[in-house]
Amino acid sequence: MAITGTNYPSVALLSSPGMGHLIPIIELGKRLLSHRFSDVTVFVVSTDFSTTQSQIIHQTSNLQPSLMNIVILPPVNISRDLGPDSPIGERIGLVMEKSLPLLRSAILSMELRPTALIVDLFSTNALAIARDLGMLTFVFFTSTAWLLAVTVYAPAMDDETLDRHLNNHEPLRIPGCKSVQFEDTLEPLLLRGQPPYEQFVQMGINISRADGILVNTWEDLEPMTLKALRDSENGLGGMIQGTVYPVGPIVRTIETERNNRDNEVLNWLDRQPPESVLYVSFGSGGTLSPTQMEEVAWGLELSKTRFVWVVRPAKEHATNGAFFNVENAGGEDSLPEGFTRRTGEVGLVVSKWASQAEILSHRSVGGFMTHCGWNSTVEGIVAGEVPMIAWPLYAEQMMNATLLTEELAVALRVKTKMEKGSVVIDRHEIQELIRRLMVEEEGQCMRAKVKELKHSAEMAISEAGSSYKSLNKLADYCGAYLFFV
Ligand code: UDP
Repeated sequence: MAITGTNYPSVALLSSPGMGHLIPIIELGKRLLSHRFSDVTVFVVSTDFSTTQSQIIHQTSNLQPSLMNIVILPPVNISRDLGPDSPIGERIGLVMEKSLPLLRSAILSMELRPTALIVDLFSTNALAIARDLGMLTFVFFTSTAWLLAVTVYAPAMDDETLDRHLNNHEPLRIPGCKSVQFEDTLEPLLLRGQPPYEQFVQMGINISRADGILVNTWEDLEPMTLKALRDSENGLGGMIQGTVYPVGPIVRTIETERNNRDNEVLNWLDRQPPESVLYVSFGSGGTLSPTQMEEVAWGLELSKTRFVWVVRPAKEHATNGAFFNVENAGGEDSLPEGFTRRTGEVGLVVSKWASQAEILSHRSVGGFMTHCGWNSTVEGIVAGEVPMIAWPLYAEQMMNATLLTEELAVALRVKTKMEKGSVVIDRHEIQELIRRLMVEEEGQCMRAKVKELKHSAEMAISEAGSSYKSLNKLADYCGAYLFFV
């Protein structure tokens, strides 16, 4: 079977809904083009195609007009099957399931079949289609090696281990890796026996059967976990059939030309002293309760620190309320009366979407209050070189916060208190964290540590670096397959 028309392998990538998946998938596509892949097709699954998604895509196609082809699969509707409050993983899972026939037809209609399909962590059911069509199968794991370890271990976890974790709140032991504290545990594990748990276990099975797993990390960032993923005796190597390729950091390319959308924030940052501004953002999907929004606002105001805050409309009892609709405006309405007027001299409130990578890389930004989504975390290190206040909200963000604070020592973490069912961190705690990060010696030490991590990241993707070599190894593997079929 002729899979592709050149001597170099070509590849198709699949992104599930969510900017946190789409952005790294597109960036991976660009990276592959500089590693002997002849062309890249990115399939994008969506429920409701937003202008933000279009902009990200437009930006990319400007950069690689001829070699990167982006195909938006027709949006699917899940509103009749699942309510808006059902777990986010379950919703994404259903969207993906409904999109699989569309993906299959799209691949079949391609003139030349790509050598390989690379999917993100929510799209692993699509690997069966690729296998069926004679393509190689890869997962691009857009989070940490540590989360990957928990995911591939999930199918093998015995009942007793899980019982002790869930009922006695003992740390979850993962062979060769740091254990997961109960406070950081993943929502699907808490829902044992229910669809999100089954889905998580299936994801672990699919990932471990793929021909390879690309991870958005690098050798020096998570050495112990990467070793465990390859170690068949004392780690998880025996559970993984394919090769693990650490290929990170893969982060959004910074645009050097300013567009109208960015001008206001970047021009404002131009007028601030170096490393004086705290950037506050809870990612593409994160939302706070009205009370929590108010406390953040007061914390910022009391700290008298310069800030840029990306606000989304407050939501009661939901920490990921903007995941499927990042375009929602109106966050300013959730701020305390007079906040923007009183803080106008020192702060800027941005509604909806900010050019995060560009903001973080601005010399005036000196700290990042983040929800610890993995893309944001890596951008904080690589684009920003900034210490962080870790404020995890959902998914694996609690584990990421622990990695940032306990392993890498580049962040302070908020203490969480439950109050009437929702988490409230009060204004004085926020004020104190900001002071420690932006003013105290403690923050300076963390800043120095982040700069070291940034250096190790640069080394990893440089020509002799570990991630660069990983991608070459992947290209060799795909090239050899092409030769044999
Ligand atoms: N992002 C952005 N502007 C925003 C919010 C998010 O550019 O206002 C980008 C951010 O830079 C990152 C991605 O969206 O690349 C969010 O991914 P992450 O893994 O941090 O979190 P998620 O949004 O998936 O929870």
